[in-house]
Amino acid sequence: MPNSQDMPGGLGGTASSPPALRLDDFMARANAAYYARHDPFKDFTTSPEIAQVFGELLGAWAAVVWRLMGAPARVALVEAGPGRGTLMQDALRCVSRVAPGFAAAAEVHFVETSRRMRAEQASRVSRAVWHDSLESLPNGPCILLANEFLDALPIRQFVRGAGGWAERFVRDGAFVEVASDGPGREAPVGSVVEISDLARTWVGDLARRLVAHGGAALIVDYGTAESSCGDSFQALRGGKPADPLVDPGSADLTAHVDFAAAAGAARAAGAAVFGPVTQGDFLGRLGLWERTSTLAAANPGRAGDLRAAALRLAAPERMGCLFKVLCVSQPGFAPPPGFEA
Ligand code: SAH
Repeated sequence: MPNSQDMPGGLGGTASSPPALRLDDFMARANAAYYARHDPFKDFTTSPEIAQVFGELLGAWAAVVWRLMGAPARVALVEAGPGRGTLMQDALRCVSRVAPGFAAAAEVHFVETSRRMRAEQASRVSRAVWHDSLESLPNGPCILLANEFLDALPIRQFVRGAGGWAERFVRDGAFVEVASDGPGREAPVGSVVEISDLARTWVGDLARRLVAHGGAALIVDYGTAESSCGDSFQALRGGKPADPLVDPGSADLTAHVDFAAAAGAARAAGAAVFGPVTQGDFLGRLGLWERTSTLAAANPGRAGDLRAAALRLAAPERMGCLFKVLCVSQPGFAPPPGFEA
């Protein structure tokens, strides 16, 4: 994180005015405070909270990937940013039934910085080991799942003016623009370009781990397949859009994930990359509709709700298109389920 006392352009604080923070610094601090103090699920919902079939299908995906890896006797089953722990709970229930060999081999690890969220996760998944970052994960083969994790990582924003680039800082609830070298790619005058140094570094570190020790990761999030222009920085408070610069720590701050940048970071580290594919296509190929019909037949009173939840996850106008799925794996891997040509 940049040191806010050393900001360019005279943005250091004075007695009457606080220092300006670069947007990624502002977002990192605001989200750390937010996840430490709030129940984020009062402000937004996520796929595993919408339908149990989401975690079940990701669990089944992990079991097939484990077999593609040669069914190692021990494998770390890792989730980054597990929220309430619902995805892992649903995944483990499913694999203990359909893939007991994988269930026995898997050791659950959670990468989670918020102590509050860890307590919530422990109430659903008791046999887990918690980590602050990827660094302390055990060396060895791993399968990692990350749903709506990268979107919470801090971004920087650059604005292309007629005379050159400026970068956005935040002071007193408003943007301050400071002349800059730009984001490293060109864009039309008037556009906003976002980059997440942390997301790129995180995916690069993950990819290096997969190359060194074997395994695969599934990254699910909302965002674009190509690096695009536009301001996607947003806040949700009480389930409603809010001003992201006001009252930091009281709202969930996110931005669209740049899947092209994530894939580039993984390839640069020597990993194989599959996708991104849309969440609708991915879940459909994994058997979303068949599994939903089975659940509906077993619970006729809930059949309508189960179908509505599946549609919410997969219909193009709901989460089916905006959400993308990317797989990063050890090199030489066969296309995993959901990514077959
Ligand atoms: N994957 C969950 C929750 C998404 S919310 C779901 O789909 O329901 C984001 C999660 O990431 C929360 O658990 C939050 O505490 C965690 N988180 C946010 N920033 C993090 C960081 N930098 N490192 C680790 N965990 C983080």
